[in-house]
Amino acid sequence: MTQVRVRFAPSPTGRFHLGSARTALFNWLFARKTGGVFVLRIEDTDPRRNTPEALRVLLNGLRWLGLNWDEGPETGGACGPYFQSRRQAVYGRYLRKLHDSGRTYRKDGAVYFRLEGERYLEYDPYLKAEVEKVRAAPQVFVDAVRGQVRRAEEKDFVLVRSSGEPVFHLVNVVDDIAMGITHVIRGEDHLSNTAKHCELFKALGAPLPQFVHLPMILNNKGPGKMSKRGDGVHLEDYSRRHFLPSALVNFLALLGWNPKDDSEIMSPDRLLEKFDLDGIQKGNARFDEKKLAHVNTEHLRRLPREEFMQRSLSVLQGAGLDVSDLTYSRAVLDLCRDKVRSLDDLPAYVTYFFSDSYPVDEKARRRLMKREDSLPKLQQALACLQSVGEWTEAGLEEGFANLARSHRQKKPFAWFPVTRFAVSGRAGGPDLLPMLALLGPHRTLTRLRRAGRAQRKE
Ligand code: GLU
Repeated sequence: MTQVRVRFAPSPTGRFHLGSARTALFNWLFARKTGGVFVLRIEDTDPRRNTPEALRVLLNGLRWLGLNWDEGPETGGACGPYFQSRRQAVYGRYLRKLHDSGRTYRKDGAVYFRLEGERYLEYDPYLKAEVEKVRAAPQVFVDAVRGQVRRAEEKDFVLVRSSGEPVFHLVNVVDDIAMGITHVIRGEDHLSNTAKHCELFKALGAPLPQFVHLPMILNNKGPGKMSKRGDGVHLEDYSRRHFLPSALVNFLALLGWNPKDDSEIMSPDRLLEKFDLDGIQKGNARFDEKKLAHVNTEHLRRLPREEFMQRSLSVLQGAGLDVSDLTYSRAVLDLCRDKVRSLDDLPAYVTYFFSDSYPVDEKARRRLMKREDSLPKLQQALACLQSVGEWTEAGLEEGFANLARSHRQKKPFAWFPVTRFAVSGRAGGPDLLPMLALLGPHRTLTRLRRAGRAQRKE
């Protein structure tokens, strides 16, 4: 069997749409799965949009996802250049071939592709009926997802605009031929172009690649297609919010593909094991941001401890927190790890461990600190904690147990909510005693006193 060669052929626009990232991923998975070659080809024929910045966004996005390419920008390869803007000579050669076999003509300054049947039309207008028959014969091609597709291409189409610019259909097919592409894996929006492309492949005497059209992605909120612009539809929206690349890979794979065993959460390795073209669905996929958040949380839970530490420390540092005391910072992270749903939530969740100016939940304040017994509870907790002998979890537990006993209570839970709010500004968080043990006596007592003062002023 010939080696599989697939390509991801984006037109850089300055942003990396998730739909485009999905196409890249499916090509990459198929290449890696089959021991094939993953080519990155930049379809940069629109000079208005082509900026070094747009290319950078694209390459960074692919790298962030871990989708390494075997041939393309920066890696090079035998079929370069991998930028369409630098392949004019190649298009010229193929155009000449079409011209020499009588398949092109000029009209209004543009170069047209002549569908087979029309040649008769030129020679013999009386054969028009015959010609119509030929033209109506639909193009049949096999799509791996849709099976046999019949499309009739009825009109000649432009190959080169009067401005001299070759059109997408020409350059796309020429490059697929010149780069030896065996499988064309792309979005369903290109299904309608495929009949034209098949005509060109045939006219150039090249075998048809296997077409694989990925289902459309619908917007979760409405009946329409996933939006092209806006918030939350680009890869950068998620990398900026510290989503895990493995979660994006997992989520994108499920946009149109399903593993046979219905498992949902998969590492990239597991995904590679399971991926196959048979699992690609015909029906539309749905883009669901909530599901993406869920997949991300699941990946966060499964992260090896050290990777979690490294990623978290860098996120906290980026948020301006001083994490230089690594023993302390790691202990905080160990304590909070299972409580946060994303790395993006982490800084707000742990700020009070690192700084005295932390966000305060005003709703929680109203609920917890406006009660008649709030101040006495605070004062009792303060007195109890001031006399804790050893500031450890066990020492704190004993202190609170004494407090409960002196009020004839079995458990000290009545004092926990005000204490927690006073030291953290939040109603929830990690277990209270280990949290206080970590915060240390100085921070804990100072904050309790401050809260008491604020309470008396009310
Ligand atoms: N540049 C085209 C796009 O971004 C590529 C189409 C194809 O994969 O054939 O949609």
